[in-house]
Amino acid sequence: SGEATAELVASRVLDVPDFPKPGIMFKDLMPLFADGEAFRATIDAIVSRHQGRFDVVAGIEARGFVIAAAVAYAAGVGVVPVRKAGKLPRKVLAATYALEYGEATLELHADAFTAGQRVLVVDDVLATGGTAAATLGLIERAGGTVTGFSVLMELEFLGARAKLAPREVHALLVVA
Ligand code: AMP
Repeated sequence: SGEATAELVASRVLDVPDFPKPGIMFKDLMPLFADGEAFRATIDAIVSRHQGRFDVVAGIEARGFVIAAAVAYAAGVGVVPVRKAGKLPRKVLAATYALEYGEATLELHADAFTAGQRVLVVDDVLATGGTAAATLGLIERAGGTVTGFSVLMELEFLGARAKLAPREVHALLVVA
């Protein structure tokens, strides 16, 4: 059930204060990744939630890669990386966006998707939604159609959903 999965995520996250900067409460989900049973249950929950509505999974560097690869394998589809600047070897599309302090750039291979391909975007934590919104823009510029976002944990008070509407946003655990 959704409640059981939320409970599972809640029991496998460690709160790390002031990382990577003072004032940030970092949600470390490595204990969930490291627990085979919990990791499989989490991935299965994501796949069943979005089953039949995506042709490919996009993972956001770096923790999103872990989730994306497992979801793609379980669903029998491919995986596409959305990377930090300067990592992809061929022609890229780039998006620069504001962070709480400073800015960041994400890149996607320009030919990553075929026209209209349905894309599920996955990451570990949805905070302000800036990263997810930049990813959405990149995928659309590349010709893909984002049919949903799936994260392990959403920090609801930061208001990411409004930036991604009307697309479906699903979090296994929502923190108010
Ligand atoms: P945002 O763009 O603010 O939604 O931030 C989302 C991205 O930064 C994701 O790739 C997360 O992995 C990471 N992130 C942001 N805030 C946190 C946090 N408090 N704990 C863990 N990861 C975070």
